[in-house]
Amino acid sequence: MQSTITPTLNKYCNDLYKYSRYVTREVKIGDVAMGANNPIRIQSMTTTDTMDTIGTVEQSIRIFEAGGEYVRITAPSKKEAENLAEIKKELKNRGYDIPLIADIHFTPNAAEIAARIVEKVRVNPGNYADKKKFQTIEYSDVQYQEEIDRIRKRFSPLVKICKTEGTAMRIGTNHGSLSDRIMSRYGDTPIGMVESALEFVRICEDLNYYNIVLSMKASNPQVMIQAYRLLMHQMAEENMNYPIHLGVTEAGDGVDGRVKSAMGIGALLEDGIGDTVRVSLTEAPEAECPVAIDIADRYKGRENHQEIKKTVVSMFNPFAYNKRKTNAVSKIGKDQVPVVVADFSKVNLETPESLKSVGYDYSEELDKWNISDQAIDFIFLEEPKLNFEIPGTLQIITPYKTWKDLEIKDTSIFPLYDKESFLWKVTKSDTLNFVSISTDELDEEFLNEINHEKSVVLLLRSDNKHWMADIRNSFFRLKKANIDFPIILEKDFSNLSEKESMLFSATDFGSLLIDGYGDGIFMKSSMDAAAMNETVFSILQSSRTRISKTEYISCPSCGRTLFDLEETTAHIRSKTNHLKGVKIGIMGCIVNGPGEMADADYGYVGSGIGKITLYRGQTVVKKNIPSENAVNELIEIIREDGKWVDLKPQ
Ligand code: SF4
Repeated sequence: MQSTITPTLNKYCNDLYKYSRYVTREVKIGDVAMGANNPIRIQSMTTTDTMDTIGTVEQSIRIFEAGGEYVRITAPSKKEAENLAEIKKELKNRGYDIPLIADIHFTPNAAEIAARIVEKVRVNPGNYADKKKFQTIEYSDVQYQEEIDRIRKRFSPLVKICKTEGTAMRIGTNHGSLSDRIMSRYGDTPIGMVESALEFVRICEDLNYYNIVLSMKASNPQVMIQAYRLLMHQMAEENMNYPIHLGVTEAGDGVDGRVKSAMGIGALLEDGIGDTVRVSLTEAPEAECPVAIDIADRYKGRENHQEIKKTVVSMFNPFAYNKRKTNAVSKIGKDQVPVVVADFSKVNLETPESLKSVGYDYSEELDKWNISDQAIDFIFLEEPKLNFEIPGTLQIITPYKTWKDLEIKDTSIFPLYDKESFLWKVTKSDTLNFVSISTDELDEEFLNEINHEKSVVLLLRSDNKHWMADIRNSFFRLKKANIDFPIILEKDFSNLSEKESMLFSATDFGSLLIDGYGDGIFMKSSMDAAAMNETVFSILQSSRTRISKTEYISCPSCGRTLFDLEETTAHIRSKTNHLKGVKIGIMGCIVNGPGEMADADYGYVGSGIGKITLYRGQTVVKKNIPSENAVNELIEIIREDGKWVDLKPQ
């Protein structure tokens, strides 16, 4: 394997400290231009059969009414590509002039037809005139160049049509569907993803065609973020500035789908990257638009944030995961998973039942706590007075003033100081002391004072509108001062709706965790304890920093889908959601599904009407079995691998 891309600088955005959108070139897509100073555009994709003209038109209208500015429609073969003309005509008849995008995989013929009808075509360089058979092939440089020349021949007619017709093109790489050629040379890496797209861009530029949009999707937000950053870096190196389409592919549904999307998309928008957003949920496409709008609208007016006093650190590597090195203080920091702190100061803690929503289920009959994989680690209480004994794994944080007056210093209760009280050299816990501190207070004097402490964990907060960048800058400052205390990320979302709290916490905490910053989360919000717990553990799971449940990589469905994805995903989830750490791909079609589910351990893939093919990794285990038995057969395969766990009777 080799790489032609070797990022020499960590430059991938305008500024790590001052928000501004990276200005790309303007690309015309019908009457709705993208890039440059245009707003961040919202889009979605239909799930109907493209031959169902009325169904597709009506769904496109629903997407538009929900805020979608472009509608993507799959064109798997020539006949669907031709039917795009009927769809367009019917939309016009109904008074809708929505720019349409044809989604192409494998079929240059369909692309060449669609490019004459719709405003934009999307091609996947992993399978457009290239192949994906999971083969490793050794290419000499000459052979590799011959392959590129072959692709050039096959791809150039489409570029010429787009140029003549004024049609835009998205060159959209997917982590899961890199071609055998790219995989053989670059591996399954962000570099491979970037190079896959840029090979196609270079062909376009040779033909003087520049109406291009680029994307680098993956279902793992960490891979996706690194690939987009690398793309930005490489575009700058090659004097390119194409608009960027952001998306986390196969994100799934419900809270997990939203958290994953807000994390991947939001982390890039935070740094000013992104010109259009598509949130892929295994739900009705019109449900995607409000989520995308919430994520994107957050950056309106962001440039007016309070100044961040920057600390320049050249050792931040945005292209690879590097966990910040910390010392371990009790169960926090070093190689331990990030901890979760919940604010219980307003929760009535009369009975053990009050801890059920945060992972602790007390059985009176057995006098025993059942502790789930999503059990929190600390609760914050103003007064640590409880009528029952808490489980051994749960500990309490309480204000120093309360803690110091406790008659017996219970080993499960720890003090929380503010900066001043900590510096007064007051009594401290021998094992664990929390200091709540804002980024403004993190000055040299404080850092010098506490540098010798061995039992400190900081709860780091900020009031800056550009919160993530301000907190990230504080990590740079700590690094410069050689301070290695564990840090818990603290943010209060109480003034936001439940929906916004979920999305924005995923962006804020997730962006930092994905770069290796943070040893815990302390989230405050108006959500109830159960919803907040679900959100926080979903953030940890999506950032792959603390795995506590099964992961589902389910495609959003499209006109190729061979079964009801929403219903099937819910069914599979109901049977398997206790299998911690197991990744299950649920894909609507055999054409793209196996490639798209990339790093899933098992795959459930539609391979015909009423037929399912099951995979172990990328290997077919059961082919074309009736869908009625498929979930049970999937469970059997998981059982054979020793990964199945029987549920305990309640
Ligand atoms: S995997 Fe799903 S979204 Fe992708 S092409 Fe197949 S059915 Fe459509």
